[in-house]
Amino acid sequence: MPFVRLACGLAAGLLVLPAIAAGALDDAELAEARALRERALADDTAYELVRSLTTEAGPRSAGSPGDVRAVAWAVERLRALGFEKVRAEPVTVPRWVRGEAHAEIVSPWPQTLAVAALGGSVATPTGGLEAAVVPFTKVEDLEAQPRERVAGRIVFFTHRMERSRDGHGYGTAVEARGRGAAAAAKLGAVAMVMRSSGTSSARTPHTGAQQVADGIPPIPALALSNPDADLLEQQLASGREVRLRLSNTSRWEGEAQSANVIGEIRGRGLAEEIVLLGAHLDSWDLGTGAHDDGAGVAIVTAAAKLVGEAKQPPKRTIRVVLYANEEFGLSGAKAYAAAHSGAVDRHVLGLESDGGAFRPYGLAARVGPDRLALVRAMQSVVEPLGIGYFGTEASGGADLGPLRERGMPVMDILTDSEPYFDLHHTADDTFDKVDPDLLRRNVAAFAAIAYLAAEAEVGFGRLPVKEATPVASQPGK
Ligand code: ZN
Ligand code: ZN
Repeated sequence: MPFVRLACGLAAGLLVLPAIAAGALDDAELAEARALRERALADDTAYELVRSLTTEAGPRSAGSPGDVRAVAWAVERLRALGFEKVRAEPVTVPRWVRGEAHAEIVSPWPQTLAVAALGGSVATPTGGLEAAVVPFTKVEDLEAQPRERVAGRIVFFTHRMERSRDGHGYGTAVEARGRGAAAAAKLGAVAMVMRSSGTSSARTPHTGAQQVADGIPPIPALALSNPDADLLEQQLASGREVRLRLSNTSRWEGEAQSANVIGEIRGRGLAEEIVLLGAHLDSWDLGTGAHDDGAGVAIVTAAAKLVGEAKQPPKRTIRVVLYANEEFGLSGAKAYAAAHSGAVDRHVLGLESDGGAFRPYGLAARVGPDRLALVRAMQSVVEPLGIGYFGTEASGGADLGPLRERGMPVMDILTDSEPYFDLHHTADDTFDKVDPDLLRRNVAAFAAIAYLAAEAEVGFGRLPVKEATPVASQPGK
């Protein structure tokens, strides 16, 4: 009777696992989380927050006037929404100014191309530069070439990002953005252009950060919109030499001051233990950062506020951290980890919203192995939102990386990445693209999960402490 043996074999495990889940959350707490979920589905706090952040602060790249306005906005909003211990913890950020970028095909068939400088790009010489184009699919293809094939030319990376719900194509696509220009400079190229790390079919290039390579003088680096990359490939397919003229006036302005803005819904009983809800306050400068990451700011703020309005606050403190400068070097994430290094063990769980306010479909966790029954009990509360269980490989998001590596368990609310990477880091990431219904679903998921995490009788264990991964190698969103 294999079935009986199987059932008996499971019984020993079931006696242990539900004991943790049942002991951690009682029926009243699960009912309160369901009620919170329903209240969130009728609450437009988040929509109003995205509207006002994109309208009043607007684009907010690190150290820009918009970034300064966003910090003041966040402090004022958290206070107005009833958060406690609201403060702005100072963060030093690099300041890079975009300037103007132009690109045109000079020959064989002259046309203008839609481009945007990558974050950190240097300027072209005054008056621009002109050179022949040499295409490669990926950085490793370039690196296999002799110097004479590349020197004096403009390197063009052609890799096309795959569009998918889980966004897995992004990790591969950002390689050229991150280190393509440095690899091209090493072989003597005069500039780098690339097909955008993004899936928009509009003539809207996707910007993003690149890494700085020590010891190699940097070259200008520009992203082409997908249709403009197609156009350049079509001209190259003629077999004739294709020459580009580029000009770019980006510049560095040293460092500037920004801040991580923090507010709390204080717990009762276990108030020193923290459930961290993160998002990043900065954005790229081409759009107004509505989805990336205005929506995340709004989702975690509105969710925590709703938890604070529950009949009684949960046992643990819910701490909202709106990070400075995720986009251009994770300055806020590193500063938070340094400033709170003595309190990492009090961070019981972290969740970040940085995937846009699109349809949530999954909950993934990275917690202690004996806490999975608790995770499943929490997931059951968000199941009616269309959120299934997606296993134990949660990333926690870029800003939570430094704490995750020091042992903090994390969960992800997974959202549809297909529309996200059409808008991501483009001029089209604007408020009109935010769907209020989908935004509310995200708030509902964060509110219910944050409440249960803060209320559970036990925590989520600890993750193995790792050697810190070089931050530059992690693709942020
Ligand atoms: Zn981003
Ligand atoms: Zn982001």
